[in-house]
Order: sequence, then structure tokens, then C-alpha cells
Amino acid sequence: ATGTATSAASRTASEQPYAAERGRLEVADLAKRFGAQQVLRGVTLSVEPGSTTAIVGPSGSGKTTLLRLIAGFERADAGTVVLSGRDLAAGDLWVPAHHRDVGYVAQDGALFPHLTVGQNIAFGMERAAGRAGRRATRARVGELLEMVSLDPALADRRPHEVSGGQQQRVALARALAREPELMLLDESFSALDAGLRVATRRTVGGVLRDAGITTVLVTHDQAEALSFADQVAVMRDGRLAQVDSPLEVYTRPVDRATAEFLGDAV
Ligand code: ADP
Repeated sequence: ATGTATSAASRTASEQPYAAERGRLEVADLAKRFGAQQVLRGVTLSVEPGSTTAIVGPSGSGKTTLLRLIAGFERADAGTVVLSGRDLAAGDLWVPAHHRDVGYVAQDGALFPHLTVGQNIAFGMERAAGRAGRRATRARVGELLEMVSLDPALADRRPHEVSGGQQQRVALARALAREPELMLLDESFSALDAGLRVATRRTVGGVLRDAGITTVLVTHDQAEALSFADQVAVMRDGRLAQVDSPLEVYTRPVDRATAEFLGDAV
């Protein structure tokens, strides 16, 4: 990415020694209130470039809100978000979602139903004018479909003409089309049946890892948290109660609920 070196240069090396590394995510003291409800109470999280962090925790603990703040769909009340050394949120500074190098895949994929699969994917790409541009777009859509193990011939179908697992992969291809530095997956595989979930998770995990894209995913699937992630973050009532390797969270869980959640995996 361009400009990361300059924004990192405005900090002293001792403050942010690795700030300019592409794909490094640093979230600090993030707070968010909806009405009277304090949903995030100071969340601090570091994610290594190219690594995967799974956020787990009970429903309503603030996992989706955290992802939405990182994506730029919502504005935090306090705290900072830094990606690749670039401040995305800090005090009065706030970069909206479409100016962040961040991909987001929601639970249902949320494809545009009136567009074809190919048009959905191309939506995230720069609009290239003329016939040559259209050919290049078509080729790139085909590449992206192959990347997520789908037949390029699916490009002309509508979302309702492909399966749920295929829709999730199309949603990922659309997010990948923007070549993001960071990918956020919000329970992206949870609507799929067990067999399809494993296959889709494996494909998606492989694509993101091969592309070296930093990934943060919210999941209620313990196998996903343990097998897919380099780091597990346990959310409790708007705070991260534990951030550790899967093995460490598994062998030394912060509390009984976490132990029970991860214990189901064996
Ligand atoms: P989780 O993803 O862990 O289930 P969420 O981040 O979705 O948790 O929600 C945390 C809390 O914040 C919930 O009580 C939810 O109702 C509330 N909340 C989330 N978004 C909004 C919103 N836009 N307006 C009001 N309350 C919200």
C-alpha cells in the first residue's frame, strides 16, 4: 500500500516499532455505547500481518460491534484503529468504510440479488471503461472464482441459482476483488450445514493464508476457532477477557464458560 511509510514516519519508532508493516492491525481502548448500553468497554487487540484471529464469546458480548468498528461501518466513542501503520480512527480522525483496505463478509454473504455472480464480484473492482476494460474485468472475475474453487461459468448465474456454500464463496471473492489488507468474516460459515462448512472454511482459509491477508473472524464454532486461527480472543461483556494461542486458550481458559465452549471440540 502507498502512504503507509509516511503515516508511520509521523510517529516515533519507540511508539509504534512495526507500524508500517502491511496488514498489521492494532486496536486500542475501543469503546462504544448504544443509547444507555455500553457495548464495548475498552478493547485492545494486536493482530500480526497475515495471521488469523478468531473472536469467540457469548451472544451480545460485542463481537459484531467490534468488527463493524474495525470495518468503519460504525464510529467508536473512544480508542484507535491502526492498519498497516495508517490511523483509521483516532480522536476526531475517522476513515469511512469505503476508504479502508478492509473486506467484510457477513453471515449471509449479502450478495446483491438482482446482479449476476460476476457482476457482484466486479462491483468491488475499479470501473474500467470500454470493451478492453470489460474483458479484463471478466478475466479477473474468472480468476477470483477459481481462487475460491468455483467454476468461472457460474459468473452468469444469479445468487439464488447457486448453493449457500457457493454464495459464501462468491461473497469472499467479492471482498477479495478489492485486494484488502484485512479481511473480516462475521460468522460467515455459520448458515452452512456441517460438511459444507468444513469444506468452505478450508477453501477460504487457504485463499486468505496464500494471499497473506490478515484475517479477523467472529465465530461460535469451536472447531473453527481452534483449527483456523493463530490467535483466539475471548469476548466477555464488551471486554477481551483473554487473547492467546488456541492451545493456550484450550489448556488454560480464562473462565468456565470458555472451557466449556472449547471443550466441546474434542
Ligand atoms: P455479538 O456479536 O457478540 O452477539 P453485538 O456486537 O452484535 O454482539 O451486540 C452487542 C450488544 O449491542 C447487543 O446487546 C446489541 O443489541 C447491541 N447493539 C448492537 N448494535 C446496535 C445498534 N446499532 N443499536 C443499538 N444496539 C445495538
